[in-house]
Amino acid sequence: MSHHDLLEVQRLDVETDQLLHRRAVLAQRGQLREATDERKRLTAEIDQISLIQIEVATRQKRFEDEAQIVAARIETDEARLYSGEVTGLRDLQALQDEIASLRNRQSDLEDEALNAMEEAESLASRAAALSTEVDVCDQRIGDLNAEINSAEAEIDARLETVRSNRTELEADLDSSLIADYERLRSMFGSATVVRFENGKCMGCPSMMPAMEADRMKHSTADVLSCDECGRIVLL
Ligand SMILES: [Zn+2]
Repeated sequence: MSHHDLLEVQRLDVETDQLLHRRAVLAQRGQLREATDERKRLTAEIDQISLIQIEVATRQKRFEDEAQIVAARIETDEARLYSGEVTGLRDLQALQDEIASLRNRQSDLEDEALNAMEEAESLASRAAALSTEVDVCDQRIGDLNAEINSAEAEIDARLETVRSNRTELEADLDSSLIADYERLRSMFGSATVVRFENGKCMGCPSMMPAMEADRMKHSTADVLSCDECGRIVLL
């Protein structure tokens, strides 16, 4: 086996961790969550508007119906007024007063119906604008999902290559060395396997004791365990 194989295994493991991290924190995931929340907010507002639209339409219909009833009464009263049936001056006056009062009432009801109609129009245009926003959101959600799928596929393909390279390397390495490496990796991560350079273990944070440095320097083995930091040292 070659020293470089274990270092290469470590490099591949670091790359795997980086790829998995990148896969988990893809920027599009946050954007997708935001777009989904926005869509929820929009549809909730549309639902709210639908309820108000029903109320407004009911109100408009009620005022129109009442205005129609009043109009019919005016027609009846006017027919009586011009029919010659009512002859008494006081009765005629009373009938005219009633017609005038009904006309006022009719005008008020028609105004109310018109107000409701205008309100309905403004609600309809707000609902249409929101619905356009939902369409934009749907487009964005679709795009983001496609981007996530493509980014995941790309990362997964690289992960697969890394995994298969690692399997190949592992086959050539001593299984107890791999077992040591994997056990120590939870502690030392990307610096589990280090080199022995400039007369010291590159994993040791400070100068190592001269005796330990000497032991390593003069060792005949090409893989050692550092007594100071516990890392795997390649000579
Ligand atoms: Zn060390």
